[in-house]
Amino acid sequence: MIHVIAVVCFLMIIYAMIPYILSAWFSIGVKRKGKKEQGMALTFDDGPDPLYTPELLDLLKQQNIKATFFVVGERAAQYPELVARMHREGHLVGIHNYKHHCNWLMSPWKNERALEQAARIVEKIIGEKPEYYRPPWGMIHLFDFFLHRQFQMVLWSRMFRDWRSKGGSEKISRGLLKKAEGGDVILLHDCGVTWGANEDAPHYTIEGLRTALPEMKRRGIRFVRIDEMFSSRPAKQVRVQKEKNLIHGA
Ligand SMILES: [Zn+2]
Repeated sequence: MIHVIAVVCFLMIIYAMIPYILSAWFSIGVKRKGKKEQGMALTFDDGPDPLYTPELLDLLKQQNIKATFFVVGERAAQYPELVARMHREGHLVGIHNYKHHCNWLMSPWKNERALEQAARIVEKIIGEKPEYYRPPWGMIHLFDFFLHRQFQMVLWSRMFRDWRSKGGSEKISRGLLKKAEGGDVILLHDCGVTWGANEDAPHYTIEGLRTALPEMKRRGIRFVRIDEMFSSRPAKQVRVQKEKNLIHGA
């Protein structure tokens, strides 16, 4: 019995722990931070949410800020009009898998099918194949490095535990104003129904942003989408191309 446990532990270390450390600590196989001069990327996971996503989109529109949303496939299918609005208003839509499940607990092939399913749903809504993928909880497994090469995996460089209500909006605004800097990919959430989150947590995220964003802009921080931050093409070229796509209804 002890041998079986030892083998399972060894396989889990190879399959899950080492890839997790390589990606989260050393950025191997993933993007997680840009250069200081590339601006700052706000990213929102777990949505869309019928209550909080529209409120967040209103705020981003008012502040003229473009962000990146990593949507859950089954929620995108449930609220397609919110995904369409993200795209219409110039935000980038990436995927966060079909369901918010831990990748470590499903086979690589099941994971691959779930990703393709999520990508198909998003493509059907916005008319573009999503290129960016963020695994739930950043849990990457060994096969993530070899399968689904069509997606660029993105983690984050800074988070403020915004999935919990504790600390309120001040936790978010203080974190953004004191810790965030150019090159950061900021992890935030526009939905609080996933395991471990508080349902009303996005309320505090939005209120924290409402306080911090005007001051961050005043300090000269430029907000960019993930594709602007990580594309090998100049940011302006990416934006012009995306705007052309929007005009032509792509
Ligand atoms: Zn998530």
